Amino acid sequence: MLREGFQTARVGLKDSFPLQLYHKAKKYFWDPRSIDFSVDKESFATLDEGQKEASLHLASLFVAGEEAVTLDLLPLVQVIAREGRLEEEMYLTTFLVDEAKHVEFFDLLIREVAQEADLERFHSVNYKKIFYEELPKAMGRLLDDPSPEAQAEAAVTYNMIVEGVLAETGYYAYYRAAELLGQQGVKLPGTLEGVRYVQRDESRHIAYGIYLLSRLIAENPSLWEVVERRMNYLLPYALGVVQDIFRAYPQGFPLQLEVGEFVNYAMGQFQKRYRRLELARSQSLKEIEQIALETDEGDA
Ligand code: FE
Ligand code: FE
Repeated sequence: MLREGFQTARVGLKDSFPLQLYHKAKKYFWDPRSIDFSVDKESFATLDEGQKEASLHLASLFVAGEEAVTLDLLPLVQVIAREGRLEEEMYLTTFLVDEAKHVEFFDLLIREVAQEADLERFHSVNYKKIFYEELPKAMGRLLDDPSPEAQAEAAVTYNMIVEGVLAETGYYAYYRAAELLGQQGVKLPGTLEGVRYVQRDESRHIAYGIYLLSRLIAENPSLWEVVERRMNYLLPYALGVVQDIFRAYPQGFPLQLEVGEFVNYAMGQFQKRYRRLELARSQSLKEIEQIALETDEGDA
């Protein structure tokens, strides 16, 4: 494929929403290795066996989830680059380094605080369905099929379900667990600092996913059906991931958290994003760009 010329040599970079996310990514850059886990390490040692197991359980889902999204993102970057969307690709370069840092953060957390290996034992049937099967399949498909349908299915799987529903519910679990442990005098400052940074990065990722899907739907409104079908297909597995965590503790979850609270939270995240994408059916590309620029998404 020959090149016809260069955007930057003709009109320059466009001050678009993806470029805004790119600037935010640079502004909020952080280093997992600068986080101090010493207090967390002492706190972990004081937990009872059940609490230790539940903490490792949550961390194991995150560390592998972050590894999965790091390994699986590249085909999307490739598709966007091939379409010549320079600002989107510039943003996506930061997206990939964010995911690498998330792997590093959760890996450090586990090795430094708990010194545990062999965490795949926590990966349940529903978790495997999403992270071992649906995510790599949807992203890998883009290598041979860059169609808008394939892009929409990939973005729903990656940005709406894995990031928008599962990761968001996971941060909520971290905050709630830390709150309960805090009442017992157990402090986790390093964990919470890192989770907050990860969540801020993730809010940009989800904002990009919404932007990408809205753009695809605005360009081709019939894609809404593809998005809707994919969202509804994956929802039961995503809720299943949440339920599986609690099912693993038939004697009662060690941190006095209830499954219903988290299923409701996950459902709320799903519905929020679903409604947002539904709006794109009647919006123009210009409106989508304008709405995205006016929100402070990615700044959370
Ligand atoms: Fe991540
Ligand atoms: Fe992410």
